[in-house]
Amino acid sequence: MNSYATEPRMKPPETAPMPQIAAAVESDDQTQPTMIEVEKLDFYYGKSQALHDVSIKIPANKVTAFIGPSGCGKSTLLRCFNRMNDLVDVARIGNGQIRIHGVDIHHSDVDVIALRRQVGMVFQKSNPFPKSIYENITYGLQIQGITDRKILDEVVEKSLRGAALWDEVKDRLHTSGLGLSGGQQQRLCIARAIAVEPSIILMDEPCSALDPIATSKVEELIQQLKGKFTIVIVTHNMQQAGRCSDQTAFFYLGKLIEFAKTEKIFTNPAQKQTEDYITGRFG
Ligand code: ADP
Repeated sequence: MNSYATEPRMKPPETAPMPQIAAAVESDDQTQPTMIEVEKLDFYYGKSQALHDVSIKIPANKVTAFIGPSGCGKSTLLRCFNRMNDLVDVARIGNGQIRIHGVDIHHSDVDVIALRRQVGMVFQKSNPFPKSIYENITYGLQIQGITDRKILDEVVEKSLRGAALWDEVKDRLHTSGLGLSGGQQQRLCIARAIAVEPSIILMDEPCSALDPIATSKVEELIQQLKGKFTIVIVTHNMQQAGRCSDQTAFFYLGKLIEFAKTEKIFTNPAQKQTEDYITGRFG
């Protein structure tokens, strides 16, 4: 059962079946079940349409990268997955549906707070709370009413180990998270995200403010996390997509142009627009 719905809803799509443009809808890696399924999504900010008829099936426990020029809708789609766009007044879905674990995330049964526990997010600029490292990790659990010190201690250690940060901070857990370096702060934010045991971690340009060494640590971490979590990463950095993702979706002007294994996107893309972008002809 999915914890973010009051009851499981395995509602079949109300619209026609998925169109037969498999390259754009699901990647050719079919070894994993689908975790996030977007069907014919149109998305608007006021009258301006940011996403056009986007359909994509994102597999579980893999890293999926969203690439494309600035303004093509990558972050908008990412923010749909945990309904962050609900917080933007003018934002609205025109048509389409997003299902996570088979649940329509906009159904009235869905508890948005519980959804966001299942679908964690790491932002471009690391944003630790102005609290201790320990409290940064335990914050989400304490909101859930978990106060048992032993449990909290265990989660702190497990999450910091999971985010490859434990050895660097274990002797200063009660000092401010803001005292860490930029790269450590970003890993602290990842530790905070995994502390509540989400299924999915969304990462919106998580390395764009980091130096190359901190970037490579976060990229290594992404590799370590992917067996346990479904990761979707927006990146402007094509080398990064190449290094850390299993499959890549290329967006252009609010449309999903192509979705395939990362290696294929970068060596033998099916669409000319993808090729033009990855070879630097625009963007
Ligand atoms: P990307 O992540 O590919 O750079 P975005 O999803 O951020 O693209 O933006 C897609 C389009 O939506 C752009 O035209 C952008 O200006 C617009 N947009 C993004 N956020 C907002 C917002 N909060 N209000 C109005 N328009 C927005």
